[in-house]
Amino acid sequence: TGIQTLLLSRIRDVADHPEPGVMFKDITPLLADPAAFSALSDVLSGIARSTGATKIVGLEARGFILGAPVAVRAGLGFIPVRKAGKLPGATLSQAYDLEYGSAEIEVHAEDLTERDRVLVIDDVLATGGTAEASLKLIRRAGAEVVGLAVLMELGFLGGRARVEPALAGAPLEAL
Ligand code: IMP
Repeated sequence: TGIQTLLLSRIRDVADHPEPGVMFKDITPLLADPAAFSALSDVLSGIARSTGATKIVGLEARGFILGAPVAVRAGLGFIPVRKAGKLPGATLSQAYDLEYGSAEIEVHAEDLTERDRVLVIDDVLATGGTAEASLKLIRRAGAEVVGLAVLMELGFLGGRARVEPALAGAPLEAL
């Protein structure tokens, strides 16, 4: 579609970042273009409405930038999922494996309840490890996952297969 062409034209490929052999998808040109950023927020807000979400969860750090305007537009609360050690209150945490070693993410326990229907937003689905851990975290907090929406899916890394069990039938929308 025209919107997809616009969004794609505002994503920069950066070779060998953050390490040799990696082609990094840089969304800062999209954020700097008000027409593109607004169009993206519109599409994501439509997904939030159609899934019946009650809360938007954004994944640190670019998921904060993309998710916050969606929460405001859709009239929903915004909940940050952060790297371990950043949130000041009582947290639930979830560890996950990286290529070398492991990582841990956290959410404020009081921010999600059994009544919540959560749409998770991030910029890039790569291996799916971060998204999968966040979906588990949301479920453990007692909330329902109604979808995962990302700007880009790097299909060759197999993230979709990794997150599918944790989505349990909820849609993965990759724009
Ligand atoms: P995953 O856990 O391997 O799926 O990696 C996803 C996380 O790493 C997301 O939070 C992304 O923001 C980030 N990420 C991975 N690859 C890229 C990229 O090419 N551009 C921007 N972010 C990326």
